[in-house]
Amino acid sequence: EKFVRVADIPFYNLQERVVLRNIGHIDPTDITDAIAAGGYQGLAKALGEMTPAEIIEEVKSSGLRGRGGGGFPTGLKWQSCAKAEGEPKYVICNADEGDPGAYMDRSILEGDPFSVLEGMTIAAYAVGARHGFVYVRNEYPLAVVRLVGAIKQAKQYGLLGENILGLGFDFDIKISTGAGAFVCGESTALMRSLEGKVGRPRAKYIHTVEHGYRDKPSNLNNVETFANVPMIIKNGAQWFASMGTATSKGTKVFSLVGNVKNTGLVEVPMGASLRHIVYDVGGGTLKKAFKAVQSGGPSGGCIPASMLDIPVDYEKLVETGAMMGSGGMIVMDQDTCMVDVARYFLEFLQEESCGQCTPCREGIKRLLQILTDICQGRGREGDIELLQELSATVKELSLCGLGGSAPNPVLSTIRYFRDEYESHIRDKFCPAGVCKELFQY
Ligand code: SF4
Repeated sequence: EKFVRVADIPFYNLQERVVLRNIGHIDPTDITDAIAAGGYQGLAKALGEMTPAEIIEEVKSSGLRGRGGGGFPTGLKWQSCAKAEGEPKYVICNADEGDPGAYMDRSILEGDPFSVLEGMTIAAYAVGARHGFVYVRNEYPLAVVRLVGAIKQAKQYGLLGENILGLGFDFDIKISTGAGAFVCGESTALMRSLEGKVGRPRAKYIHTVEHGYRDKPSNLNNVETFANVPMIIKNGAQWFASMGTATSKGTKVFSLVGNVKNTGLVEVPMGASLRHIVYDVGGGTLKKAFKAVQSGGPSGGCIPASMLDIPVDYEKLVETGAMMGSGGMIVMDQDTCMVDVARYFLEFLQEESCGQCTPCREGIKRLLQILTDICQGRGREGDIELLQELSATVKELSLCGLGGSAPNPVLSTIRYFRDEYESHIRDKFCPAGVCKELFQY
């Protein structure tokens, strides 16, 4: 009597699960389960029926863009790596997921590691690599265990290692664990960390597809991007491109967390509205009315209730002042103080800045000081303008994306919730009742 079918639960039946297709349906410790569910058909087709150039064209026509945050076209990246001079080449999976509240990659690795290994192997064949790495967070021990097991089984079944599927292609994957530095998710820092050096970013004119790991051409994509690839090859570029918007194709996995009834991983076609994600799939807020969504983690920004109907794709989110990021989506209700939200993310980024360049190291620290002062009743007239001016400097002059996007939470909360800043500064009052230090005034 109490049995409820998954198909009857809106949280699941309103989703379009491509990347999450096998999560919860297969035993992630058993490759035969993955194969029975259609796994490795994409690899068989790629190696058996397609040339590397045809695979790159297929991925290009699919419109797949990097799911790690940047949204760079995956096929173009593969093409650049294939053309780059230098041997050996590498295929690297970025599994250094670090945004607060985001755990898409972790769940994919824990629930279906085979799809990521399959996608990496197809990429390796396309770009001409024989060696690969998964750079995974040390804080994800189960993901590491599942990867180790999946790699071992894939080799036993001739799906990894030497002479894959008897078709003369060799590719091996090693696992490297990070040491908890958020900045190592940045491509150049990741490559350095992989080499055993301190994970500090390099100037952006150095492209890792040409000069990556050990200064050799290295193709870096994140977990979700690779997990899409087998389905694109198996079902064709047109199938993938039929989902999404004009510039953002396919689906996107979001980690829906915060003050929302149904929390968890949500996969919907690109272009689905925020309202659909928060209200239809997520079931709406828990108690108080909706206030905003923080999209894109600490590098992103908040989107207010007035924009709930925007279609979620790369370009639309940037227009709001937020960004897609890797897919973290934190729902906030009326009990959330937006100045405190900006302060929280700046505190996180201050700890994670590698300290290599002054605008980021000192600028984030100063932004955090001002925000803390505002939250604790020491805000002064002119602080909002100072935050904006300093944010522009940090954005403009920082070396890597961490510093370049660090002021986004400040700028977007000022843009949509300036009245809350003013209330803290002029009236020494926190409208959400969060900044307890203000109670003494
Ligand atoms: Fe390091 Fe920040 Fe400079 Fe990036 S912007 S290199 S994280 S100090």
